[in-house]
Amino acid sequence: MHKYFFIFLTLLTHSLTAQECDTEITQKNWKYRVNLSTFISQKEGIDINPNKIYYDFMRMPIGVPFNYIDFIQIKEYKYKEIENNQLLYPAYEAYAKMKQDAFRKNIHINIRSSYRNLRTQQIVFNKHGASRAEKPGYSEHHLLTTIDIRYAGENTKLFLWLLNHAFDYGFVPTYYFRIEKNIRQESWHWRYVGEEAAQWFRCAWRNEINNEINRLSHTFGKI
Ligand SMILES: [Zn+2]
Repeated sequence: MHKYFFIFLTLLTHSLTAQECDTEITQKNWKYRVNLSTFISQKEGIDINPNKIYYDFMRMPIGVPFNYIDFIQIKEYKYKEIENNQLLYPAYEAYAKMKQDAFRKNIHINIRSSYRNLRTQQIVFNKHGASRAEKPGYSEHHLLTTIDIRYAGENTKLFLWLLNHAFDYGFVPTYYFRIEKNIRQESWHWRYVGEEAAQWFRCAWRNEINNEINRLSHTFGKI
């Protein structure tokens, strides 16, 4: 009975979402998430109880030790220094390209903060509290794929540009469209999840994204 109901639900989901919103991606990237998790765990010494992992509304795990980066192998898990910060190589490449393309349109993207180790996150957590910072060990900033962008407040032209274009480079604003009300909306916080997964997020949030783009376009026009 349950099995057939699940199949029915799956079919229903598929018929309701467009092709580009393929739910298969949650399965497809599992292996890569686990690989990355191993890397981060070794680097950080973080051992998280799976029962305590926070899942988002798409049933995707958030924070350490999971990520959705597609098509990266363990040997490529090198990170690179950039703007006094650090990013995993695939995230760095995507960031560098996005920054360059934005610059051509006179949009300036700079990193305020990316990688934080356990100790740094503890300092942030102590300073800002649980409503404004994740517990040490659970921050996406441990992943080496997440950036806080300077001057990307929710009423800025920069945020409008990011909403229009950053998904194409594989970045998503993971803390902006979360439904949980106790978590602060952060328009400057963007996490690299890979182009494919970013497309999936864009589909899932398309109404919310369009509302924000419309709101900001009144002030800044079409960019
Ligand atoms: Zn952040």
